Amino acid sequence: MEKINLRDYVATVKDYPEPGVEFRDISPLMGNGAAYKDAINQIVDFAKDLNVELIAGPESRGFIVGSPLAYALGVGFVPARKVGKLPREAVSASYTLEYGGVNELEIHKDAIKPGQRVLIVDDLLATGGTINATRRIIEELGGVVAGVAFIIELEALHGREKAMEAGEVPFLALMEY
Ligand code: AMP
Repeated sequence: MEKINLRDYVATVKDYPEPGVEFRDISPLMGNGAAYKDAINQIVDFAKDLNVELIAGPESRGFIVGSPLAYALGVGFVPARKVGKLPREAVSASYTLEYGGVNELEIHKDAIKPGQRVLIVDDLLATGGTINATRRIIEELGGVVAGVAFIIELEALHGREKAMEAGEVPFLALMEY
């Protein structure tokens, strides 16, 4: 079988959602069964030695990466939702966005048990604010971040440093831009 080049499935949109931003759209990757499977399988390989007990992903593209991964690993999935969406008691953290504005994520208080090993995943690492906020909530709930994984890392924005602010953990990005 021909080797899949995941870069062929990323659409770059200049000046979206605002001038100066190059939006890396993974819709073509998700829309192609072989490419989607290849990306998830690569993250499964990364997760194998990390004793992962839960996957957590921020709304909404983190769900698209995290759900098939949780299924493949046979572990649960915990959504970090935009504020105001969860029906029960939750812990929240806020952060600033790459293209302006403030966002807030929250996770149900009983979603993570103290000591549980959680792998955080998202489609893309930009400034690292999203992943840092997700990590802060997980750690506040007593979870242990087993690693972080992305389909894309935007290297120039140094999000990796922000992701590791609370301490170094295993890191995976399938593509760098
Ligand atoms: P950040 O918190 O800055 O690391 O931003 C990461 C989140 O914003 C991810 O969930 C991405 O889906 C989205 N995002 C930020 N910048 C971009 C970009 N240039 N292209 C596509 N998605 C982006």
